[in-house]
Amino acid sequence: MTAATMDFAISPTSRPLPAAEREAVLKEPGFGQTFTDHMVTLRWSAERGWHDGRLEPYGAFTLEPATSVFHYGQALFEGMKAYRRPDGAVTLFRPDANAARFNASARRMAMPELPPEIFVKAVELLVAHDRAWVPEGAGRSLYLRPFMIATDPSLGFTHPSRTFLFCVVASPATAYFGGGTPRPLSVWLSTNYTRAVRGGTGYAKTGGNYAGAFAAGLEATAHGCDQVVWLDAEEHRWAEEMGGMNLFFVHARPGGRPRLTTPPLTGTLLPGITRDSLLTLAPKLGYDAVESPVSIDQWREECASGELTEVFACGTAAVIAPVGTVKSENGQWTVSDGEPGPVTLRLRRELLGIQHGSAPDPEGWVHHVR
Ligand SMILES: *Cc1c(COP(=O)(O)O)cnc(C)c1O
Repeated sequence: MTAATMDFAISPTSRPLPAAEREAVLKEPGFGQTFTDHMVTLRWSAERGWHDGRLEPYGAFTLEPATSVFHYGQALFEGMKAYRRPDGAVTLFRPDANAARFNASARRMAMPELPPEIFVKAVELLVAHDRAWVPEGAGRSLYLRPFMIATDPSLGFTHPSRTFLFCVVASPATAYFGGGTPRPLSVWLSTNYTRAVRGGTGYAKTGGNYAGAFAAGLEATAHGCDQVVWLDAEEHRWAEEMGGMNLFFVHARPGGRPRLTTPPLTGTLLPGITRDSLLTLAPKLGYDAVESPVSIDQWREECASGELTEVFACGTAAVIAPVGTVKSENGQWTVSDGEPGPVTLRLRRELLGIQHGSAPDPEGWVHHVR
Protein backbone atom coordinates (compact mmCIF):
# COMPACT_ATOMS: atom_id res chain seq x y z
CA MET A 1 0.00 0.00 0.00
CA THR A 2 1.22 3.53 -0.69
CA ALA A 3 0.35 6.77 1.06
CA ALA A 4 -1.70 7.74 -1.98
CA THR A 5 -4.02 4.76 -1.49
CA MET A 6 -4.31 5.09 2.30
CA ASP A 7 -7.14 7.53 2.91
CA PHE A 8 -7.95 8.46 6.47
CA ALA A 9 -11.61 9.06 7.38
CA ILE A 10 -11.78 12.44 9.12
CA SER A 11 -14.15 12.71 12.12
CA PRO A 12 -13.23 15.87 14.05
CA THR A 13 -14.36 16.27 17.65
CA SER A 14 -17.52 18.29 18.28
CA ARG A 15 -16.10 19.31 21.68
CA PRO A 16 -12.55 20.66 21.30
CA LEU A 17 -10.99 22.09 24.45
CA PRO A 18 -11.97 25.80 24.59
CA ALA A 19 -9.18 28.04 23.28
CA ALA A 20 -8.65 29.79 26.64
CA GLU A 21 -8.10 26.46 28.41
CA ARG A 22 -5.79 25.26 25.67
CA GLU A 23 -3.73 28.46 25.93
CA ALA A 24 -3.45 27.95 29.69
CA VAL A 25 -2.07 24.44 29.10
CA LEU A 26 0.39 25.72 26.48
CA LYS A 27 1.85 28.23 28.97
CA GLU A 28 3.01 25.45 31.32
CA PRO A 29 2.78 22.24 29.34
CA GLY A 30 4.87 19.91 31.55
CA PHE A 31 5.42 16.56 29.85
CA GLY A 32 2.92 13.99 28.60
CA GLN A 33 0.00 14.99 30.82
CA THR A 34 -2.46 16.74 28.54
CA PHE A 35 -3.43 15.39 25.14
CA THR A 36 -4.73 17.25 22.12
CA ASP A 37 -8.27 17.04 20.75
CA HIS A 38 -7.60 14.24 18.26
CA MET A 39 -5.78 10.99 17.61
CA VAL A 40 -5.07 8.98 14.46
CA THR A 41 -5.73 5.24 14.37
CA LEU A 42 -5.02 2.56 11.81
CA ARG A 43 -5.64 -1.16 11.99
CA TRP A 44 -3.81 -4.19 10.63
CA SER A 45 -5.04 -7.73 10.13
CA ALA A 46 -3.41 -10.72 8.45
CA GLU A 47 -6.23 -10.76 5.86
CA ARG A 48 -6.52 -7.06 5.07
CA GLY A 49 -3.12 -5.57 5.90
CA TRP A 50 -3.32 -1.91 6.97
CA HIS A 51 -6.84 -0.53 6.81
CA ASP A 52 -9.45 1.64 8.54
CA GLY A 53 -7.32 4.78 8.93
CA ARG A 54 -9.07 7.49 10.95
CA LEU A 55 -8.58 10.87 12.47
CA GLU A 56 -10.98 10.89 15.41
CA PRO A 57 -11.55 12.55 18.79
CA TYR A 58 -8.91 11.65 21.42
CA GLY A 59 -10.50 9.02 23.64
CA ALA A 60 -10.42 5.62 25.30
CA PHE A 61 -10.10 2.27 23.53
CA THR A 62 -12.41 -0.62 24.37
CA LEU A 63 -10.36 -3.84 24.51
CA GLU A 64 -11.18 -7.29 25.84
CA PRO A 65 -9.31 -8.45 28.96
CA ALA A 66 -7.73 -11.22 26.90
CA THR A 67 -6.17 -8.71 24.48
CA SER A 68 -2.67 -9.91 23.70
CA VAL A 69 -0.76 -6.72 24.58
CA PHE A 70 -2.01 -6.81 28.20
CA HIS A 71 -0.37 -10.20 28.73
CA TYR A 72 2.64 -10.50 26.47
CA GLY A 73 3.59 -6.89 25.94
CA GLN A 74 3.82 -7.04 22.16
CA ALA A 75 4.00 -3.29 21.69
CA LEU A 76 6.27 -0.57 20.37
CA PHE A 77 6.37 3.19 20.22
CA GLU A 78 8.12 6.21 18.79
CA GLY A 79 8.80 9.66 20.23
CA MET A 80 9.08 12.80 18.09
CA LYS A 81 8.12 16.48 18.20
CA ALA A 82 6.38 19.15 16.15
CA TYR A 83 7.89 22.63 16.45
CA ARG A 84 6.46 26.10 15.86
CA ARG A 85 8.86 28.34 13.98
CA PRO A 86 9.19 32.08 14.56
CA ASP A 87 7.09 32.66 11.39
CA GLY A 88 4.30 30.43 12.74
CA ALA A 89 4.99 27.47 10.42
CA VAL A 90 4.91 24.02 12.01
CA THR A 91 7.61 21.43 11.31
CA LEU A 92 8.75 17.94 12.23
CA PHE A 93 12.36 16.85 12.70
CA ARG A 94 13.54 13.84 10.64
CA PRO A 95 10.18 11.99 10.66
CA ASP A 96 11.57 9.55 8.08
CA ALA A 97 14.12 8.43 10.70
CA ASN A 98 11.32 7.71 13.18
CA ALA A 99 9.45 5.77 10.49
CA ALA A 100 12.54 3.66 9.77
CA ARG A 101 13.17 2.96 13.46
CA PHE A 102 9.50 2.10 13.97
CA ASN A 103 9.90 -0.60 11.33
CA ALA A 104 13.17 -1.87 12.81
CA SER A 105 11.36 -2.23 16.15
CA ALA A 106 8.42 -3.91 14.37
CA ARG A 107 10.67 -6.55 12.79
CA ARG A 108 12.23 -7.38 16.16
CA MET A 109 8.82 -7.61 17.86
CA ALA A 110 7.25 -9.71 15.05
CA MET A 111 4.80 -6.92 14.27
CA PRO A 112 3.80 -5.61 10.83
CA GLU A 113 5.85 -2.85 9.27
CA LEU A 114 4.09 0.37 8.31
CA PRO A 115 5.12 1.92 4.97
CA PRO A 116 7.16 5.01 5.98
CA GLU A 117 5.02 7.35 3.88
CA ILE A 118 1.89 6.21 5.76
CA PHE A 119 3.66 6.66 9.11
CA VAL A 120 4.60 10.22 8.17
CA LYS A 121 1.16 10.92 6.71
CA ALA A 122 -0.54 9.77 9.93
CA VAL A 123 1.68 12.00 12.06
CA GLU A 124 1.21 14.97 9.73
CA LEU A 125 -2.55 14.51 9.74
CA LEU A 126 -2.71 14.76 13.53
CA VAL A 127 -0.37 17.75 13.67
CA ALA A 128 -2.29 19.53 10.91
CA HIS A 129 -5.62 19.10 12.75
CA ASP A 130 -4.22 19.99 16.17
CA ARG A 131 -1.88 22.70 14.88
CA ALA A 132 -3.22 25.18 17.48
CA TRP A 133 -1.70 22.88 20.15
CA VAL A 134 1.89 23.39 18.97
CA PRO A 135 3.30 25.79 21.58
CA GLU A 136 5.53 28.77 20.82
CA GLY A 137 8.86 29.46 22.45
CA ALA A 138 12.31 27.97 22.96
CA GLY A 139 12.29 24.42 24.28
CA ARG A 140 8.52 24.02 23.77
CA SER A 141 6.99 21.67 21.27
CA LEU A 142 4.17 19.23 20.63
CA TYR A 143 5.39 15.78 21.66
CA LEU A 144 4.10 13.05 19.34
CA ARG A 145 3.70 9.46 20.39
CA PRO A 146 3.04 6.98 17.56
CA PHE A 147 2.64 3.45 18.93
CA MET A 148 1.41 -0.01 17.98
CA ILE A 149 -0.14 -2.77 20.10
CA ALA A 150 -1.16 -6.40 19.53
CA THR A 151 -4.94 -6.67 19.73
CA ASP A 152 -5.79 -10.38 19.29
CA PRO A 153 -8.34 -11.28 22.00
CA SER A 154 -6.55 -14.54 22.75
CA LEU A 155 -4.18 -15.90 25.39
CA GLY A 156 -2.45 -18.17 22.90
CA PHE A 157 1.22 -17.35 22.68
CA THR A 158 2.61 -19.84 20.23
CA HIS A 159 2.40 -17.25 17.48
CA PRO A 160 2.35 -13.45 17.38
CA SER A 161 -0.95 -11.59 17.22
CA ARG A 162 -2.80 -11.46 13.89
CA THR A 163 -4.34 -8.05 14.52
CA PHE A 164 -2.68 -4.79 15.51
CA LEU A 165 -3.66 -1.23 16.26
CA PHE A 166 -1.46 1.73 15.32
CA CYS A 167 -2.22 5.06 16.95
CA VAL A 168 -0.71 8.54 17.19
CA VAL A 169 -1.44 10.87 20.10
CA ALA A 170 0.06 14.29 20.86
CA SER A 171 0.86 16.21 24.02
CA PRO A 172 2.30 19.72 24.38
CA ALA A 173 5.68 19.63 26.11
CA THR A 174 8.45 21.64 27.69
CA ALA A 175 11.86 20.04 27.14
CA TYR A 176 12.12 17.28 29.75
CA PHE A 177 14.16 18.48 32.77
CA GLY A 178 13.05 22.03 31.90
CA GLY A 179 13.74 24.63 29.20
CA GLY A 180 16.42 27.33 29.54
CA THR A 181 19.86 26.35 30.84
CA PRO A 182 19.56 22.68 31.66
CA ARG A 183 20.09 21.53 35.23
CA PRO A 184 22.90 18.95 35.49
CA LEU A 185 21.68 15.42 36.20
CA SER A 186 22.97 13.03 38.83
CA VAL A 187 23.17 9.47 37.55
CA TRP A 188 23.30 6.04 39.18
CA LEU A 189 25.44 3.30 37.62
CA SER A 190 23.25 0.22 37.84
CA THR A 191 25.06 -3.03 38.59
CA ASN A 192 22.14 -4.93 40.16
CA TYR A 193 20.01 -4.70 37.04
CA THR A 194 20.58 -5.10 33.31
CA ARG A 195 18.53 -3.36 30.63
CA ALA A 196 19.49 -5.32 27.54
CA VAL A 197 21.59 -8.24 26.32
CA ARG A 198 22.95 -9.18 22.89
CA GLY A 199 20.17 -10.76 20.91
CA GLY A 200 17.54 -9.15 23.13
CA THR A 201 15.24 -6.20 22.45
CA GLY A 202 17.52 -3.34 23.53
CA TYR A 203 17.53 -1.62 20.14
CA ALA A 204 13.74 -1.79 19.78
CA LYS A 205 11.57 0.97 21.25
CA THR A 206 9.32 -1.48 23.07
CA GLY A 207 7.50 -1.05 26.37
CA GLY A 208 9.10 -4.06 28.03
CA ASN A 209 12.49 -2.36 28.04
CA TYR A 210 10.93 0.38 30.17
CA ALA A 211 8.91 -1.97 32.37
CA GLY A 212 12.11 -3.75 33.35
CA ALA A 213 13.84 -0.44 34.08
CA PHE A 214 11.51 1.04 36.71
CA ALA A 215 13.04 -0.98 39.57
CA ALA A 216 16.48 0.40 38.72
CA GLY A 217 14.94 3.87 38.54
CA LEU A 218 13.68 3.44 42.11
CA GLU A 219 17.16 2.34 43.16
CA ALA A 220 18.58 5.49 41.54
CA THR A 221 16.03 7.63 43.39
CA ALA A 222 16.90 5.92 46.67
CA HIS A 223 20.52 6.96 46.08
CA GLY A 224 19.44 10.55 45.37
CA CYS A 225 19.98 10.26 41.61
CA ASP A 226 17.83 11.51 38.73
CA GLN A 227 18.54 8.76 36.21
CA VAL A 228 20.04 5.31 35.69
CA VAL A 229 23.06 4.69 33.48
CA TRP A 230 22.88 1.18 32.08
CA LEU A 231 26.05 -0.87 31.76
CA ASP A 232 26.72 -3.83 29.49
CA ALA A 233 25.23 -7.12 30.69
CA GLU A 234 28.37 -9.29 30.50
CA GLU A 235 30.95 -7.28 32.46
CA HIS A 236 29.01 -4.37 33.99
CA ARG A 237 31.97 -2.37 32.83
CA TRP A 238 30.94 -0.42 29.73
CA ALA A 239 28.56 2.53 29.78
CA GLU A 240 25.69 1.94 27.38
CA GLU A 241 22.95 4.56 27.72
CA MET A 242 20.40 6.10 30.06
CA GLY A 243 16.77 5.13 30.54
CA GLY A 244 15.55 7.05 27.52
CA MET A 245 18.63 8.92 26.33
CA ASN A 246 21.98 8.16 24.75
CA LEU A 247 25.29 9.28 26.27
CA PHE A 248 28.15 11.41 24.98
CA PHE A 249 31.57 11.92 26.60
CA VAL A 250 33.58 15.05 25.78
CA HIS A 251 37.37 15.39 25.93
CA ALA A 252 38.31 19.08 25.63
CA ARG A 253 41.89 18.28 24.42
CA PRO A 254 43.44 21.76 24.88
CA GLY A 255 45.42 22.71 21.76
CA GLY A 256 43.46 20.22 19.60
CA ARG A 257 39.88 19.61 18.49
CA PRO A 258 37.47 18.61 21.28
CA ARG A 259 36.44 14.96 20.88
CA LEU A 260 32.97 13.51 21.43
CA THR A 261 32.67 9.79 22.13
CA THR A 262 29.41 7.85 22.20
CA PRO A 263 29.06 4.09 22.76
CA PRO A 264 28.65 2.10 19.52
CA LEU A 265 25.32 0.54 18.48
CA THR A 266 25.90 -3.07 19.50
CA GLY A 267 22.23 -4.01 19.44
CA THR A 268 21.73 -3.39 23.14
CA LEU A 269 21.39 0.39 22.81
CA LEU A 270 18.49 2.31 21.38
CA PRO A 271 19.72 4.05 18.20
CA GLY A 272 18.70 7.60 19.08
CA ILE A 273 17.92 10.06 16.31
CA THR A 274 19.33 12.84 18.48
CA ARG A 275 22.52 10.79 18.87
CA ASP A 276 22.75 10.31 15.12
CA SER A 277 22.08 14.02 14.48
CA LEU A 278 24.84 15.06 16.90
CA LEU A 279 27.33 12.69 15.25
CA THR A 280 26.60 14.51 11.97
CA LEU A 281 26.53 18.00 13.47
CA ALA A 282 29.64 17.78 15.68
CA PRO A 283 32.31 17.72 12.92
CA LYS A 284 30.71 20.80 11.32
CA LEU A 285 31.17 22.64 14.62
CA GLY A 286 34.86 21.71 14.78
CA TYR A 287 34.60 18.66 17.03
CA ASP A 288 35.80 15.13 16.37
CA ALA A 289 33.01 12.59 16.94
CA VAL A 290 33.59 8.85 17.35
CA GLU A 291 31.56 5.77 18.27
CA SER A 292 33.69 3.85 20.73
CA PRO A 293 33.17 1.99 24.03
CA VAL A 294 33.71 3.94 27.26
CA SER A 295 34.36 1.99 30.47
CA ILE A 296 33.23 3.24 33.85
CA ASP A 297 36.87 3.05 35.04
CA GLN A 298 37.88 5.35 32.19
CA TRP A 299 34.95 7.64 33.03
CA ARG A 300 36.09 7.93 36.63
CA GLU A 301 39.85 8.14 36.03
CA GLU A 302 39.60 10.68 33.23
CA CYS A 303 37.29 12.85 35.31
CA ALA A 304 39.91 12.72 38.07
CA SER A 305 42.74 13.60 35.66
CA GLY A 306 40.69 16.35 34.02
CA GLU A 307 40.86 14.82 30.51
CA LEU A 308 37.15 13.99 30.41
CA THR A 309 35.58 17.41 30.68
CA GLU A 310 31.85 16.95 29.95
CA VAL A 311 29.26 14.20 29.80
CA PHE A 312 25.74 14.68 28.50
CA ALA A 313 22.66 12.66 27.64
CA CYS A 314 20.57 13.29 24.54
CA GLY A 315 17.14 12.34 23.28
CA THR A 316 14.04 13.87 21.73
CA ALA A 317 12.30 14.57 25.05
CA ALA A 318 15.20 16.22 26.89
CA VAL A 319 17.21 17.36 23.81
CA ILE A 320 20.59 17.55 25.63
CA ALA A 321 20.96 17.22 29.39
CA PRO A 322 24.36 17.58 31.13
CA VAL A 323 25.51 14.93 33.59
CA GLY A 324 27.02 16.52 36.73
CA THR A 325 27.39 13.77 39.32
CA VAL A 326 27.98 10.02 38.98
CA LYS A 327 27.20 7.59 41.81
CA SER A 328 27.77 3.84 42.07
CA GLU A 329 28.19 1.10 44.66
CA ASN A 330 31.92 1.98 44.62
CA GLY A 331 31.62 5.68 45.34
CA GLN A 332 30.85 8.88 43.52
CA TRP A 333 32.52 11.58 41.48
CA THR A 334 31.68 14.73 39.56
CA VAL A 335 32.27 15.56 35.92
CA SER A 336 34.51 18.69 35.99
CA ASP A 337 32.87 21.12 38.41
CA GLY A 338 29.47 19.47 37.97
CA GLU A 339 28.12 22.34 35.85
CA PRO A 340 27.08 22.20 32.17
CA GLY A 341 30.16 22.55 29.93
CA PRO A 342 30.65 24.72 26.83
CA VAL A 343 30.49 21.88 24.27
CA THR A 344 27.25 20.55 25.81
CA LEU A 345 25.63 23.99 25.78
CA ARG A 346 26.78 24.79 22.24
CA LEU A 347 25.47 21.52 20.81
CA ARG A 348 22.18 22.06 22.61
CA ARG A 349 21.87 25.59 21.23
CA GLU A 350 22.74 24.50 17.67
CA LEU A 351 20.34 21.55 17.66
CA LEU A 352 17.47 23.56 19.17
CA GLY A 353 18.19 26.26 16.57
CA ILE A 354 17.75 23.81 13.69
CA GLN A 355 14.67 22.21 15.26
CA HIS A 356 12.94 25.50 16.06
CA GLY A 357 13.86 27.16 12.77
CA SER A 358 16.19 29.89 14.04
CA ALA A 359 19.29 28.28 12.43
CA PRO A 360 19.90 26.99 8.88
CA ASP A 361 19.14 23.34 8.10
CA PRO A 362 21.94 22.16 5.78
CA GLU A 363 21.09 18.47 6.21
CA GLY A 364 17.44 18.85 5.19
CA TRP A 365 16.23 17.49 8.54
CA VAL A 366 13.29 19.88 8.88
CA HIS A 367 9.98 18.68 7.42
CA HIS A 368 7.20 21.22 6.95
CA VAL A 369 3.65 20.18 7.87
CA ARG A 370 1.18 21.48 5.33
C1 LIG B 1 13.92 6.95 22.57
C2 LIG B 1 15.14 6.53 23.31
C3 LIG B 1 16.39 7.19 23.18
C4 LIG B 1 16.56 8.46 22.38
O1 LIG B 1 16.16 8.41 21.05
P1 LIG B 1 15.83 9.75 20.26
O2 LIG B 1 15.47 9.28 18.90
O3 LIG B 1 17.06 10.59 20.26
O4 LIG B 1 14.71 10.40 20.98
C5 LIG B 1 17.48 6.66 23.83
N1 LIG B 1 17.37 5.56 24.60
C6 LIG B 1 16.20 4.91 24.78
C7 LIG B 1 16.17 3.71 25.64
C8 LIG B 1 15.05 5.38 24.14
O5 LIG B 1 13.89 4.74 24.31
